[in-house]
Amino acid sequence: MSETFRAILVSRDEEKKQSVDIVDLGEADLMEGDVTVKVEATTVNYKDGLAITGKSPVVRHWPMVPGVDLAGTVTKSESGEFKPGDKVLLNGWGVGETHWGAYAGMARLKADWLIPLPREFTPLEVMGIGTAGYTAMLCVMALERHGVTPGDGPVVVTGANGGVGSVAIAILAKLGYHVIASTGRPNEADFLKELGAAEIIDRAELSEPGRPLGKERWAAGVDAVGSHTLANVLAQTKYGGAVAACGLAQGFDLPATVMPFILRGVALLGVDSVMAPKARRLEAWSRLVTDLDKGKLAAITTTIGFDDIVETATAITEGKVRGRVAVDMIGA
Ligand code: NDP
Repeated sequence: MSETFRAILVSRDEEKKQSVDIVDLGEADLMEGDVTVKVEATTVNYKDGLAITGKSPVVRHWPMVPGVDLAGTVTKSESGEFKPGDKVLLNGWGVGETHWGAYAGMARLKADWLIPLPREFTPLEVMGIGTAGYTAMLCVMALERHGVTPGDGPVVVTGANGGVGSVAIAILAKLGYHVIASTGRPNEADFLKELGAAEIIDRAELSEPGRPLGKERWAAGVDAVGSHTLANVLAQTKYGGAVAACGLAQGFDLPATVMPFILRGVALLGVDSVMAPKARRLEAWSRLVTDLDKGKLAAITTTIGFDDIVETATAITEGKVRGRVAVDMIGA
């Protein structure tokens, strides 16, 4: 008889009322895949918060084991790419949305979704980065592909105290950028300065409806917030600059005008982590090895256990989580 393990299961009744339970599962319960992984670490992203609270339709298969990120060890493999004992990392690919995910002691996954755990990181460190941090890296890479360099001027980072924002600040500062951090939590200014922010601005400056074009304040932006904030970031970007947009913490609308695009040649760069091709993921993770200071990663990361996931998921949707959360899955 195979051993059981604990899992978080999100279900819906006939009236589509959502419930969240801690259940015991066995390997036979897991969904199809060619690689079985013992989950050693995971994280709580904003999207995981939405899945567990049901605040947005993240879950598209019921019932669901949420959790979009995991790191662990392969226990069984029908794929030539991985063998038992290999340390692996997974971010996205619809895991935790349409395929049972990370909030369980074991996961069965497709080999195509997995990449080797970078040797330089432990499972908990890599989950301290997680999808949020890897997306921050993708945003910086998008700005670089556009030709942005530290000499061009400041870079604004919105949602600065969040997962994407805090990792983006640490990376950009290490690369030599002058970082302007936009936050609704000015009491965390010291934390943001330690990460490398040169200036802190109140997010209220950006979150209300603004003018089509404003003073040129920054050469580039990393935006995890969307809505009026993204519109105002675009309106205050210097001639020829670029903004990488990856999030919707304020809203998924974009109440902007075309003025920054047609009068200043500003570029809006969309960033998706979930379906990003493998080559770009591998590049992002190898860049994280070199461009994210481990001391800063430790400062950003709070480590919790399996039993704390549900409470943390609610807190992240209320903007109450600072930086990143890594989950030690021992005991799941
Ligand atoms: P967090 O909750 O950790 O951070 C979001 C931050 O946004 C908060 O900490 C807060 O920062 C700010 N914020 C929250 N609510 C508002 C609001 N109403 N108005 C303005 N600012 C607000 O989330 P993550 O960093 O994990 O994710 C950020 C966004 O990026 C989410 O929308 C997420 O879905 C998206 N995302 C997208 C990915 C992709 O593939 N495109 C991948 C990963 C994330 P502060 O307190 O400093 O103001």
